[in-house]
Amino acid sequence: MTTVAAYAAPAAKAPLERTTVPIRPVGEHDVLIEIAYAGICHSDIHQARDGWGEGIFPMVPGHEIAGVVTETGPGVTRYRVGDRVGVGCFVDSCRTCAYCEQGLEQYCTRGSTPTYNGRDKNGEPTYGGYATHIVVDENYAVRIPDTLPLDVAAPLLCAGITLYSPLVHWKAGPGKKVAIVGLGGLGHMGVKIAHAMGAEVTVLSQSLRKREDGLKLGADHFHATSDPETFRQLAGTFDLIVSTVSAPLDFTAYLALLKTDGALVNVGAPEEPVSLNLFSLIGGRRTLAGSMIGGIAETQEMLDFCAEHGLGAEIEVIGADRINEAYERVLRSDVRYRFVIDTATLR
Ligand code: NAP
Ligand code: ZN
Repeated sequence: MTTVAAYAAPAAKAPLERTTVPIRPVGEHDVLIEIAYAGICHSDIHQARDGWGEGIFPMVPGHEIAGVVTETGPGVTRYRVGDRVGVGCFVDSCRTCAYCEQGLEQYCTRGSTPTYNGRDKNGEPTYGGYATHIVVDENYAVRIPDTLPLDVAAPLLCAGITLYSPLVHWKAGPGKKVAIVGLGGLGHMGVKIAHAMGAEVTVLSQSLRKREDGLKLGADHFHATSDPETFRQLAGTFDLIVSTVSAPLDFTAYLALLKTDGALVNVGAPEEPVSLNLFSLIGGRRTLAGSMIGGIAETQEMLDFCAEHGLGAEIEVIGADRINEAYERVLRSDVRYRFVIDTATLR
């Protein structure tokens, strides 16, 4: 068993520190990837602090991985040494259930294998992208188009696909009014992608602090949710609202911003439950839904869409020794708009 340099949380809520973790030998259908960049997703913070419970420690977070193939197993057909590839939130699934067969591996009935904080089919813990290398089955890697630099591509592997998938499913496009709640890592990709799809895009942010950025990213309108006037002015406005907020939200208030038959899709994963007045659904035949990342084929489609439209994440590249500081800044909503770890700093 080979070991590689990594950054890990040794225990729940403990600061991350430099360590080494094992990677499995390259199997028949595996590729070895030298990781160039790993994005910091808010989900990394929820899990490193065990906010969702049942965390496996030591934990090497990171599911926004961009790198280069450096070795291939004998049965690998999709990739060659030197190919630029990405790995997102899961690295395996049962491959036979109805969802896996439809390319919805994220909803695998037996549960897909998380890139980190999970266990593989042999029961071994999985370790994520805050490391120099990762070994994955070729079917769970995606190709990063040549025109997308690896650093701005990394966050697409979670933030990009998590917004692309519901925007496609709920048909964002010309003539549709779409609101994105929360302008962080996920939210800023939602604005870029919804704008590229031709929708009229509104950002709903806690304050007007990020207004200029939001308009530059492609939003047509920007409102502060701390201002009660926002909820009066925008009542009944949107076809689709996607909430990316990492904390509990007053969904009753946001549902009132939908047209009749509109949908509020929540992708945020707060650590506490929320309450809801069901009349906010009944009154307008409205839908409250959720959505989780996207399948492998759709992730490839998203990367190709982003390359075609010249979309990458807005990033702040950091060395691994700044991960703990970056976590604190994400928790303060002080990130514009994704921290990306340069994993060369681990070597
Ligand atoms: P992030 O960069 O921290 O962005 C979240 C944004 O939500 C913040 O920038 C802030 O935007 C807003 N916000 C934060 N606290 C708030 C509060 N108390 N009230 C109102 N708004 C608040 O996080 P992220 O990486 O985008 O992830 C967002 C959430 O999605 C996390 O819970 C994460 O675990 C989850 N997630 C889900 C999936 C999925 O598949 N469904 C995938 C990835 C991540 P403003 O400053 O604009 O208000
Ligand atoms: Zn994520």
